Amino acid sequence: MVKVIRYGQKRRILCQTCGALLEFKEDDLKTVQTGMNEYEQQIMCPACNETVKVN
Ligand SMILES: [Zn+2]
Repeated sequence: MVKVIRYGQKRRILCQTCGALLEFKEDDLKTVQTGMNEYEQQIMCPACNETVKVN
């Protein structure tokens, strides 16, 4: 069986505000608490300076 030993470090996401395709690393993620037991991972879009939610 094939196993993933390490996932690629870079991930891509589309900014919902300006449509820019962003490439980020795990270190760029910011974890923000949005509720009692809810957390959200975010990055900042360098093109429009808006927060982009990462799932
Ligand atoms: Zn943007």
